[in-house]
Amino acid sequence: IQRGYAAAAKKDEVAKFHGQKGSDGLFTVSLIEGDGIGPEISQSVKDIFTAAKAPIKWEPVDVTPMLRNGKTTIAQETIDSIERNKVALKGPLATPIGKGHVSLNLTLRRTFNLFANVRPCRSIAGYKTPYDNVDTVLIRENTEGEYSGIEHVVVDGVVQSIKLITREASERVLRFAFQYAENIGRLKVRAVHKATIMKMSDGLFLGTAKRVSKDYPSVEFDAELLDNTCLKIVTDPTPYNDKVLVMPNLYGDILSDMCAGLIGGLGLTPSGNIGDECSIFEAVHGSAPDIAGKALANPTALLLSSIMMLRHMELNDHAQRIETAIFDTLAEGKTLTGDLGGKSKTHEYADAIIRRL
Ligand code: NAD
Repeated sequence: IQRGYAAAAKKDEVAKFHGQKGSDGLFTVSLIEGDGIGPEISQSVKDIFTAAKAPIKWEPVDVTPMLRNGKTTIAQETIDSIERNKVALKGPLATPIGKGHVSLNLTLRRTFNLFANVRPCRSIAGYKTPYDNVDTVLIRENTEGEYSGIEHVVVDGVVQSIKLITREASERVLRFAFQYAENIGRLKVRAVHKATIMKMSDGLFLGTAKRVSKDYPSVEFDAELLDNTCLKIVTDPTPYNDKVLVMPNLYGDILSDMCAGLIGGLGLTPSGNIGDECSIFEAVHGSAPDIAGKALANPTALLLSSIMMLRHMELNDHAQRIETAIFDTLAEGKTLTGDLGGKSKTHEYADAIIRRL
C-alpha cells in the first residue's frame, strides 16, 4: 500500500508502471520548467533531488507553442522526449485569456491522452488553516466534458459550448479511480455528479460508475451531487478523508481548487496527469507572473508533484525521504516563503529542506 502523495495505480491494465531506467541506473525524466516562476521552482526540485541522490536524470524540453495546420502543438522533439521517457515533470505554463494559442496544458493532456488527473490535498502541519485534518483525494476526468474545446457562435450574441461525455472515457477514469483506491488502501469511491440536471451526460457517467463498481467488490461505492459535496466538504472535510472522489472534468477542476483552499492554497497542492503510455506531474498553480523572478515563489506544490512522480516510478524510499524533509521544514515554520507568512526566499526554503535530508 502506498502512503502519502501516491500517484497512480500500478501493475494493472489501466496504468502500467512508468519510467525508463538507463544502463547507468538512472531514470530519465523530461523536464518542462515552464513560464513565470517555473524556472525558480524547478531549480529547487533539481537541487533537492541532487542532494537526496534521487536516481533521476533531467532532460529539459521546450514547449513553445507552434501552429501546425491551424492547430496548437509543441515541438516534435518534446513529444519524442516524453514518449521515450514516459514520465515528465512540468512547471506552470501561461495561457493567453480569451484569444491566442490553445492552452498548452490542454495540448499536452490531449497529445498524450492523459485521461486521469489525480489531485491529493493534505493539511500541512504547522500551517494554520480553518481545518488541520484535511486529506482528500480527487480524480478528475481529464479529456472531455466542458473542456472538449467544441464551441461555436450560433448567431451574434449566442454561443454554444458542447459538454461531451462518452462511456469510454468515463469508464477509463472510473476504473482508474477504483484501482487507485485499491492501491492506496482507501477502499471507498464516491462519484460526484449533477445527474439530476444533466440527466443524459452526467447520467451516463453515473450509470457507468455503478456498472464499473461491480467489478471492484472490495471497494465501497456511492455517489453524491456536486453542490452537496461542496457544502459538506467546507463544513467538515473529515468524512472525505477515507474516500477517493471521482468526477467529470469541470467539476474536478473547480472542486480540487476548493480542496486546495482548505489546506492553504494552490502553492501547496500537487497533481499527476496519468495516461496509459505517459504521465505528467505538475503543480496545480499557474505561472504567478506577479512574483516571477523575485525568488518569492513557494516550490512546495512542484516538489510534492515530484514526490507523486517518484512513487509512480516505484522510487518509494527516495519519495519518503524527501517528503519527510519537506513536511518537517514546513512544520518547524522557521524557513517559509511569503505566501505561508514567512520571509524566506525560494532557495533558502529549498536549502532548509536539503539540510533535513
Ligand atoms: P496563479 O496560480 O499563477 O497565481 C494566483 C496567485 O497565487 C498569485 O497571486 C500568485 O503570486 C500566487 N501563487 C501561485 N503559485 C504560487 C507559488 N508557487 N508560490 C507563491 N505564490 C503563488 O494564477 P493566475 O495568476 O490566474 O495565472 C497566471 C498564468 O498561469 C495564466 O497564464 C494561467 O493561464 C496560467 N496557469 C497555468 C496553469 C498550469 O500550467 N497548470 C495552471 C493555472 C494557471
